[in-house]
Amino acid sequence: MRLIALPLLALVLIGAKADDGVATAERLRDAALADNQAWELVESLTTEVGPRLAGTDKEAQARAWAVAKLKALGFQNVHVEPFDLPVWVRGDERASVVGEHAQPLAISALGRSGATPAAGIEAEIVHFASTEALEAAPAEAVRGKIAFVTHAMRRTQDGSSYGYFGSVRRSAPSIGASKGAVAVLIRSLGTDYHRNPHTGGTSWAEGQAPIPAAALSLPDSDQLERLLKLGKPVRVKLVMTPRFTGPGTSGNVIGEIVGREAPDEVVVIGGHLDSWDLGTGAIDDGAGVAITTAAAKVIMESKQRPRRTIRVVLWGAEEVGLVGGAAYAEAHARDKTIMAAESDFGAGRIWKFGYRVAETAKPLMTTIARVLSPLGITHDTTNSNRGGPDIGALAAIGVPTLAPEQDGSDYFDLHHTPDDTLDKIDPKALDQNVAAYAAMTWLVADSDVALGPVATGAR
Ligand SMILES: [Zn+2]
Repeated sequence: MRLIALPLLALVLIGAKADDGVATAERLRDAALADNQAWELVESLTTEVGPRLAGTDKEAQARAWAVAKLKALGFQNVHVEPFDLPVWVRGDERASVVGEHAQPLAISALGRSGATPAAGIEAEIVHFASTEALEAAPAEAVRGKIAFVTHAMRRTQDGSSYGYFGSVRRSAPSIGASKGAVAVLIRSLGTDYHRNPHTGGTSWAEGQAPIPAAALSLPDSDQLERLLKLGKPVRVKLVMTPRFTGPGTSGNVIGEIVGREAPDEVVVIGGHLDSWDLGTGAIDDGAGVAITTAAAKVIMESKQRPRRTIRVVLWGAEEVGLVGGAAYAEAHARDKTIMAAESDFGAGRIWKFGYRVAETAKPLMTTIARVLSPLGITHDTTNSNRGGPDIGALAAIGVPTLAPEQDGSDYFDLHHTPDDTLDKIDPKALDQNVAAYAAMTWLVADSDVALGPVATGAR
């Protein structure tokens, strides 16, 4: 017996050595495809908590939900890391064209918008086809008016159009205010032709008093342009009563699978827990919370502990200015963070695997890409992808980033609208995401390869 057993044992050991974690990663990938944990999580979050605006009681409820779920799934060291932030809440919001062509317009206040008096304001519209056109205009053309700013955003698979045209939401209100506009209306940063305006945060210059700033749905934006083409002044009445409710609390929720050999080396994956208030935050970002939590849970269920620690981070207050991402990076600046990955681009299938790592880590990236390829995922070898928004602050301090890229062709039909609801998620696509995250996370967490150093500094 012994003579036979020894060569067999040797074969098993050789097999394990040659594996390099690939066989395990493949098993995890395939197990994830047959697991519906992610769907259960996103269904539970969007149904039982619903909308969860940063700093509100609803976001606190989401944190309590996350702590309970992570504990129930068997994560270790589950805790909340709180931080403070100014809290803004929506009020009434109504707009209508007045005069000969009187009619209502569908609007939604932008995050951090100022308010009108309770009775509203009425002013003439002045149109600018881009943020740059508003910026170039003399103040006399804007003063006392409602600046109406549009753009040419189009549908793209990678969402790059949002980045390029995003200044209309982020900066145009502040530029309008600096030129004396009484309010700013923007064409929604969206690609759908429903009458759903797309909300989202805007920002003001230091010391600048917020003015009313709202997004029009695409059909309403087109309508306003047609009314202006009639050649007569167009006046709009606006009633908006959002307000800042003062300082509040948010927090990042954390759960871990502690590594067996190098517990102080941390592999960060996660999504953000807060959402805008119009929908139930299914694609933004209930899906990311569910995908990354479920991926870690698949690894936990395999009964194999990785060399390094896997830390799931569910960031708070992303939508209102990446507050949780910044708080996390500050609190964990001294951690040995091996890499970070965030899922925050909906629930579409992953089509490309990108990253930003040291040259010496490229063979590991090639191994990951090979394991992901049966999922229909291609390999972006440009080594330039800094990943999701909440890990931007980590990337800036030199943390390597991994970035499974989702197909976002329809993301901006739903993003920040009342249409961001559970029914928009395809369970099969969600499982494909979990499979990719489980395999990728395992291969990094069970490896002893350093993924850094990478260059520090903002994008
Ligand atoms: Zn998001």
